[in-house]
Amino acid sequence: MANKELAVVAGGGGFIGGHLARHLLSQGYRVRVADIKPMDSWYQVHGDAENHVLDLKDLNNCRKACQGADRVYQLAADMGGMGFIENNKALCMLSVLTNTHMLLAAKDAKVKRFFYSSSACVYNADKQKNPNVVALKEADAYPAMPEDGYGWEKLFSERMCRHFREDFGIQTRVARFHNVYGPYGTWDGGREKAPAAICRKVIMAKLSGKHEIEIWGDGSQTRSFMYVDDCVKGICMFTDSDTLKEPLNLGSDELVSINQLVSIAEDIAGIKLNRKYKLDAPKGVAGRNSDNTRIKEVFGWAPGVRLQDGMAKTYAWIFDEIKAGAASPV
Ligand code: NAD
Repeated sequence: MANKELAVVAGGGGFIGGHLARHLLSQGYRVRVADIKPMDSWYQVHGDAENHVLDLKDLNNCRKACQGADRVYQLAADMGGMGFIENNKALCMLSVLTNTHMLLAAKDAKVKRFFYSSSACVYNADKQKNPNVVALKEADAYPAMPEDGYGWEKLFSERMCRHFREDFGIQTRVARFHNVYGPYGTWDGGREKAPAAICRKVIMAKLSGKHEIEIWGDGSQTRSFMYVDDCVKGICMFTDSDTLKEPLNLGSDELVSINQLVSIAEDIAGIKLNRKYKLDAPKGVAGRNSDNTRIKEVFGWAPGVRLQDGMAKTYAWIFDEIKAGAASPV
């Protein structure tokens, strides 16, 4: 427990960063959290961390964040679910400033490890046209045809991490997250992702007695969803690895359709809803799953929290937030 290394969590006021910072504190790290949002909007504020409100698009702020750091976890990004990324491509691409400046500042501060959170949105869109997917292997990112805006930025920043490692010797590690969900994340306001949005809609239907739910698309689109504890575990394994060099999938391979995800939330709530399909809503690719062959080869482990267990915890947290009258801070 006497690990005195200083770990920086960039974007730690957000969903995954808040969980990661808590875990690193529990492991004995000194933790510095930086986020652009005012602190009363952070999902988790850890009193035993050093907390800073900083816009990390700015190089000088990145230098402040990285000063004296041993390791950096770069999760800061302007992002959200499909509703956000399909309508805000320029904003998504501007995260390239954050990634560039964090890499530069980390290199100059001589940090030992730099973790970068990439996304399954880097994968070639042509391989995701069918809901009966073949799970995506790491090599499927090329030839490149990622999600417009957000995916291109992630792919570019992945390569920047690679070249900073090759040319400057900074130990970069990259994970491609596949849909992460859990408590202490966005559940309304337009940036929320499917699991949280569906929990919220089911809870509202239950509380209001209006037993109806709006589903984006026809509900046949398929995805896998990773519980946030698995994500944090993977981030730490990747960052600590001495052998891992290339980007690796970090996701569950439990494939479900959006209709099945709604059924899971209905079962948790103990209700059945009348489904209305909004066919012109943003719905992303037809199907996507994580091929976990490589992560199992490298670590002998892959995310394994069952969707219905993770959804039960997420549902319970959002239920309490709604009952308490809280608006999601983002
Ligand atoms: P999040 O939006 O909850 O957290 C991101 C945080 O970054 C936010 O708190 C935001 O305020 C902060 N941020 C944005 N711009 C900033 C800036 N200029 N300076 C400082 N902070 C800034 O999102 P999350 O779900 O926790 O995602 C974390 C990372 O993981 C992101 O890079 C995201 O692209 C990636 N990712 C997430 C998922 C997912 O399903 N949640 C999937 C793939 C990749």
